[in-house]
Amino acid sequence: MAYVLSGDYWGKQTVSYYIDLADANQMMAALRAFEKWDSELALDFVRVYTPAEGDITVSTVDIDGPQMALARAKTFTNPENQITKSVIQFDSADGVTFQTALHEIGHAIGLDHSGDPSTIMSWRVDLTLDGLQPDDIAGGQILYSAPELLFGWNIGWNFGWYHGWAYGWNADWYVGWGVGWHVTGDGWTYGWTYGWNVGWNVGWHIGWGNGWNFGWSVGWYYS
Ligand SMILES: [Zn+2]
Repeated sequence: MAYVLSGDYWGKQTVSYYIDLADANQMMAALRAFEKWDSELALDFVRVYTPAEGDITVSTVDIDGPQMALARAKTFTNPENQITKSVIQFDSADGVTFQTALHEIGHAIGLDHSGDPSTIMSWRVDLTLDGLQPDDIAGGQILYSAPELLFGWNIGWNFGWYHGWAYGWNADWYVGWGVGWHVTGDGWTYGWTYGWNVGWNVGWHIGWGNGWNFGWSVGWYYS
């Protein structure tokens, strides 16, 4: 493994982020990047809509024009090496890509540059990578471990494979992604879930299939 830790880390499980990006594609790239890291770690990212509430803030600024530096991230820590704030700034001339967003979020959670050039955390991000590499994930999981499998309720939209039939309310099970409110021992939180669920859903579905359903469910999911 070639990952390098900065020596700093978030001392809590839920970390909020605020994104100030006008471009819809850049916004999607940043949201996907937070979601990807979230899905690999026992660290939960929650989006907030006021800058002051954001543990991590994301914006664009003029750094050095096209090429050269694509972005920068600065972390602030307390005396116990716990990160208290991370500021990610993308060069407005270069914009935001999924890969650079993954890289800067890596810095924002305590990863330094990996010695392996074919990783997201390489000092020079390989923009052809399709996402986090095993070395990137290994570094992140050293700091935060792998996602926990939790049991709880979910209310919201769910997308995934399911077995069932008919239109209307259905008692059903599915495996897939869900977005909505879910409750665990820690209370209600909003976000994405993944896993097996059984519960009530409303929507069209016939036989085996996949699609969106709205409803509530209870089941196991990764947090
Ligand atoms: Zn970097």
